[in-house]
Amino acid sequence: MKSAVDNWTEATRSWLFPPRCALCGAPGSDGLDLCTECRAELPFNHHCCPRCALPLPEGSGDSICGTCQKRPPLFDRCRAPWRYDYPLNHLIGHLKFRRKLPLARLLGTLLAEHVAASPLLPQLLIPVPLHSARLRERGYNQALELARPVARRLQLPVDTALCSRARPTAAQSELHLNQRRRNIRGAFRVSDRLRATHVAIVDDVVTSGHTVNEMARVLRAAGVERIEVWACARAVRQR
Ligand SMILES: [Zn+2]
Ligand SMILES: [Zn+2]
Repeated sequence: MKSAVDNWTEATRSWLFPPRCALCGAPGSDGLDLCTECRAELPFNHHCCPRCALPLPEGSGDSICGTCQKRPPLFDRCRAPWRYDYPLNHLIGHLKFRRKLPLARLLGTLLAEHVAASPLLPQLLIPVPLHSARLRERGYNQALELARPVARRLQLPVDTALCSRARPTAAQSELHLNQRRRNIRGAFRVSDRLRATHVAIVDDVVTSGHTVNEMARVLRAAGVERIEVWACARAVRQR
């Protein structure tokens, strides 16, 4: 449910900045910076592992992927509406590295629409934190910027103080897959103020899953019983 202030803010915004498709420049639809045609062409993650949202070949049914069977993740479920292909990689790249912050509103709103039908919503959203040095360098945390419109749309609180980086780590994207787990191990700490039993970790893209899995490990140790991961896109693991 939207408040009167939200409605007013949205009405003012669309009057000042009429929505324009971030991909083709045509007028946006539904108040979003995306046109109907481009939206219909987004690579929806239809066939995916019900546990970790890994894209699977068509016809795989509802089967859990091989990795989850061998080594189940520490979160309960990952929801990622799209595959990390064009244009998601382009939109997320611009949000993350080119300061295109309005894209967080677009992607966050679409993510919220995807998860809104969940039978049970979490009590709290926890964006994947950046280390303070990385935050200073970038000026914002894209996971938090994505979590804000989700929180607004679903009327859920976001907390950025409950989970923080215990130490700086190399960017996961710059490492080999087999180095990623070691790189992220022990990277997070959780505040003893955490009281929620059901949370959703919010991130832009899940690739190897090691980052969100490590966060789930410390949240679980702090007493959280149900942990979801909400990400805009899920990448196929590179070999
Ligand atoms: Zn378009
Ligand atoms: Zn899986």
